[in-house]
Amino acid sequence: MSKNPPNYISTTNACKLCTPLGACLAFKGIEGAVPYLHGSQGCATYMRRYIIGHYNEPIDIASSSLSEKNAIYGGGPNLKMGLVNVTQKYQPKLIGIATTCMTETIGNDVGRYLHEFQRETVGTMPIMVRVATPSYNGTHMKGFHAAVTAVVEQLAKGREAVQEKINLLPGFISPADKRYFSEVIDDFGLDATILPDLSDTMGRATSKYDKIQPGGTPLASIATMGRASATIEFGRTLNGKTARLYWSAIWVRLPARSCKSMG
Ligand code: SF4
Repeated sequence: MSKNPPNYISTTNACKLCTPLGACLAFKGIEGAVPYLHGSQGCATYMRRYIIGHYNEPIDIASSSLSEKNAIYGGGPNLKMGLVNVTQKYQPKLIGIATTCMTETIGNDVGRYLHEFQRETVGTMPIMVRVATPSYNGTHMKGFHAAVTAVVEQLAKGREAVQEKINLLPGFISPADKRYFSEVIDDFGLDATILPDLSDTMGRATSKYDKIQPGGTPLASIATMGRASATIEFGRTLNGKTARLYWSAIWVRLPARSCKSMG
């Protein structure tokens, strides 16, 4: 070993963050949405701390708060109780549910729990979107894109291109870059649904605390995404997965404008 070690600190995979963290950010870019983790409280606390540090403003991430007991007997009752609590406290329009390492490892059937829950609470709950995000499966980027795909799969209606409108899936960009995209779209005179849209829900801290910040991609626009004339998806490594849900997809193999990376 050298007597004079180099004067730096080595960091391995600094940007490889947890997968549901990315999903929570994607959900945060939707109108009236609350991100909800089906897992233990520590995961939600870690993600809140990291996102607050990055964006310099508060973010609420709900949790089903599972304990050791739930790891053995299942997390269904906690998931349902948490959804009721979040609905009462936030009155959200959408709850975006992402799983954690623990719930994926024990094999919680979130789809079945939600199916049961929707039957038990007909008409009284907000829209719910679920995405499977085991963190050992990838990074925060993978979770982000999986959540965007889940939102489109579960909420967009129709397949025929009948609208003079396009979809833009900009990928993981900063709020400032999304504002720039909006300017470009306006310059071209286009009408576009940009999913997600963090330009008002994050990156604009004000002195007033809102439980749910105004802004985000409108749910009504997401519902019509299946009928857009074209879908443009940005990202080198995505293979146009979400855009290919539509026959009208245009897959753009270009990175979005560079933005401050999260790490
Ligand atoms: S346990 Fe998994 S889901 Fe929870 S914070 Fe760690 S990496 Fe993320």
